[in-house]
Amino acid sequence: MAGVVSTERQHEADWVAELRKRGYRLTPQRQLVLEAVDSLEHATPDEILTQVRRTAGGVNISTVYRTLELLEELGLVSHAHLGHGAPTYHLADRHHHIHLVCRDCDSVIETDVSVAEPLITRLKQEFGFETDMKHFAIFGRCRNCSAD
Ligand SMILES: [Zn+2]
Ligand SMILES: [Zn+2]
Ligand SMILES: [Zn+2]
Repeated sequence: MAGVVSTERQHEADWVAELRKRGYRLTPQRQLVLEAVDSLEHATPDEILTQVRRTAGGVNISTVYRTLELLEELGLVSHAHLGHGAPTYHLADRHHHIHLVCRDCDSVIETDVSVAEPLITRLKQEFGFETDMKHFAIFGRCRNCSAD
């Protein structure tokens, strides 16, 4: 149907605009990394590399790290730590949630930052501290695992 823009095309247009505003181009490498972050969800740099290599075989891990660093600086992606391993990446405009990680089955539950509002408010009042609840996951046991 004419006039309908697929989400993918829309993303691409946004990325081009965002990068251009800051004097950067959407190079094929940057686009592949953004697409991998978008489609994989909670992907580590290694997983992003595997995905990118399906299209661009010559890309190596340091390129992926450099690209992620730049895209994060420019506010297009952000990372979270879901465990002891490498950080995982989200498109920044989708990352407004806290991660709850089950230590038994490794499942990851995303919940809105607002659930932590009482804690965030108290830390602000008592310590003047601005809490970033998105950066690290909260560990525990999910409903299924704690039911056993
Ligand atoms: Zn970090
Ligand atoms: Zn579980
Ligand atoms: Zn997430």
